[in-house]
Amino acid sequence: LVEITGVRKSFGPTEVLKGVSLTVEPGGVAVIVGPSGSGKSTLLRTINHLEKVDGGHITIDGRLVGYEVRGDRLHELREKEILKQRTDIGMVFQNFNLFPHLTALENVAEAPVVAQGRSKAEARRRGLELLDRVGLKDRADAYPRQLSGGQQQRVAIARALALDPKILLFDEPTSALDPELVNEVLDVIRELAKSGTTLIIVTHEMGFARDVADTVVFMDQGQIVEQGTPQDIFSNPQEPRTRSFFSKVL
Ligand code: ATP
Ligand code: MG
Repeated sequence: LVEITGVRKSFGPTEVLKGVSLTVEPGGVAVIVGPSGSGKSTLLRTINHLEKVDGGHITIDGRLVGYEVRGDRLHELREKEILKQRTDIGMVFQNFNLFPHLTALENVAEAPVVAQGRSKAEARRRGLELLDRVGLKDRADAYPRQLSGGQQQRVAIARALALDPKILLFDEPTSALDPELVNEVLDVIRELAKSGTTLIIVTHEMGFARDVADTVVFMDQGQIVEQGTPQDIFSNPQEPRTRSFFSKVL
């Protein structure tokens, strides 16, 4: 269970998250949509403490992200504890971010060895399983530059899954892809959604959002303007800002 409560974040004088609250149930799929600059990426980054919040808090399965309570005050966790906590939270970015000098399999098998102390043999075995799951078992020994964008992104998804995260965050996972490669990545995410992985996805792919989301969240100017089922949000939006956004993108 992910609970985001009243989260605020400023960069200098500009408040880019103005008290955002959102709950995602275990196995739930929340899709966040909204105009450029509305704070979607910043919100995702607060969930794994890549951005510190200025107010509010986030818990995953009841545990505060990035902080602990001592006495009656919040103290930021030490770097090592933050890194450990992040192994519960997989993140997939727009630009794949694979290690260029490692093969597909090495990209997937690295973190379980380094961060979780698993044996190399075990990490490779599991890595091959995960590559199989994203349809890339036969490309295990390829380097990122030898793979298409869609294949690289599927490796990135397998890599994120390798730590058995409680939740997976996607920030525009298909925005950097040629149109004909978008579906192979969306299909993998659809499969994850079906299999009960908890997902928070920022995307501009509205058809996909309609398919996979339990909850669609519309953000604008650092706030959640409206949220609901895909049916509610796409077919019957209540807020003028939501309507105006969808009239431009749908
Ligand atoms: P997009 O759809 O273009 O990816 P977004 O909804 O993801 O947009 P964010 O990237 O979260 O938006 O940015 C929200 C606001 O915060 C923007 O005005 C952006 O310029 C600002 N911002 C984001 N990161 C920083 C930073 N590190 N320093 C200063 N300002 C930032
Ligand atoms: Mg963004």
